[in-house]
Amino acid sequence: MSHSNISIFVPHKGCPNDCSFCNQRVISGQTVPATPEDVENAVKTAIKHNVNPKDTEIAFFGGSFTAIEREYMCSLLTAAKHFLDIHKFKGIRVSTRPDCIDDEVLSVLKSYGVTAIELGAQSMDDDVLSANHRGHSAEDVRRASKLIKDYGFELGLQMMTGLYKSDFSKDLFTAKEIIKLKPDTVRIYPTVVLKTTHLAYLQGIGEYTAPTAEDSASFCAELLQMFNENNIKVIKLGLHSSETVESDMVGGAYHPAFRELCEGYIYLQKILEKLDGKDKIHEYTIFVGKKALSKAKGQQKRNEKALKNQGFHCIIKGKENLEEFEVKVVENK
Ligand code: SF4
Repeated sequence: MSHSNISIFVPHKGCPNDCSFCNQRVISGQTVPATPEDVENAVKTAIKHNVNPKDTEIAFFGGSFTAIEREYMCSLLTAAKHFLDIHKFKGIRVSTRPDCIDDEVLSVLKSYGVTAIELGAQSMDDDVLSANHRGHSAEDVRRASKLIKDYGFELGLQMMTGLYKSDFSKDLFTAKEIIKLKPDTVRIYPTVVLKTTHLAYLQGIGEYTAPTAEDSASFCAELLQMFNENNIKVIKLGLHSSETVESDMVGGAYHPAFRELCEGYIYLQKILEKLDGKDKIHEYTIFVGKKALSKAKGQQKRNEKALKNQGFHCIIKGKENLEEFEVKVVENK
């Protein structure tokens, strides 16, 4: 059974910041703050749909959870803990800012059964953090990450690519710094410019252009491979597809199947590595794992077309017992 979350959004509530890219109302798709009753309803609905509690976390996303008013925070946690105790859910996951983590709040989270904490690191370059009004430093991310691990929580780190004043080399540095912090999970969000944000303003005056999904995909594919090689699970790559994001985006790297786009790049790269040095007279069958067939062919068969453009005659087929990103090439006689 695969992992799942019962997601409860706490949009912008309590957040003291106004990050350049953030429009929490749009990202979380709602404006009304979640209540303990919402937690109860979300859990009951999930149970009705037969989620397996052992593989399911109750997750508070969307704001700076540890910065919200303490009484409100505890009321949400009380509601979640009630179900945690009765149904033995895997745990409670919260997301917050690096500068809203200290010993005291971690002790409170522990007492309510929180198991995983995700930090919005976004960048490990202080100039980029400052240009995007994050209100914390890279050192805050290091300090908070260490504390979270010392308390025995699962650590998740979120990073963004293509922010204002960043570039691929700064984003690569961020990924390398994140790897040093040894998080259990990572989320990678290529920047999407939303209406009414500071980034939209900067874009409007010609001061900033966010990389598109096409610009970002091959780079994010590289990041995905780096995290995979370091056994760090990338649990999200690209913003959730949602009508609100689609209607409010005015630039940047939104694609409804961004991860698949990145994974397609990885397959193309692996296939080309295997074909390196082979002649272009013969035809080849490329075998990949059965479930990965559409990714290996690429969206709208772009990988098949790319191989053809490079002069290779290939047929891509699915095969049992091949690992993710494993590729076998056989020359057709
Ligand atoms: S800290 Fe989070 S919720 Fe607050 S403005 Fe920044 S991105 Fe939005």
